[in-house]
Amino acid sequence: MKTHQVYHHTADDQKEDQFQKIKSYHISKGWGGIGYHRFIERSGVLIMGRPIGERGAHAVNVGGSRDKSGLPYDTINNVAIGYCLAGDFTKEKPTMAQIKTLHKISYEDQIKYGIPDENRFNHRDVSQTLCPGVDLITLIDMEHRNYLRKKKYRAENALRWTNPLRSAMLRRLIDRIKALLSL
Ligand SMILES: [Zn+2]
Repeated sequence: MKTHQVYHHTADDQKEDQFQKIKSYHISKGWGGIGYHRFIERSGVLIMGRPIGERGAHAVNVGGSRDKSGLPYDTINNVAIGYCLAGDFTKEKPTMAQIKTLHKISYEDQIKYGIPDENRFNHRDVSQTLCPGVDLITLIDMEHRNYLRKKKYRAENALRWTNPLRSAMLRRLIDRIKALLSL
């Protein structure tokens, strides 16, 4: 059962696709496959890693003041879906395509598994590491607001053409989005 999400970068600035390289590296460490559940190349292409039902091999929570998860030592791998983006975000930014894909899969997983926002962590929140370099959670949240704004804009446009029954539905949708965006 997955109740948490942890976000990573590969810390590798190589421009080519990295999934196979990271997978081979993790196999060489005896982790039985890639340690992450979801992997996103610079192009934004999503590759499914280990099945969600399997324990991840990507984060060890260290306890102490840096650990915001509140879970005991090494529990996080049992309960967290591991997401990894190709790149070294201590030197560069993730691509827009990566953020869009990360937002989509991350929100889909939150809805599917009922994961609350406060159970999302950058790797550095649970382990002694710089990973993932940037604050991926803030970037996901910014992308989510863009997504909601676009959805609202489309609904407002559709309102001009539609019949009364559908208008009422669209108005309810627009009100819900406005509340989420706190406008
Ligand atoms: Zn990491």
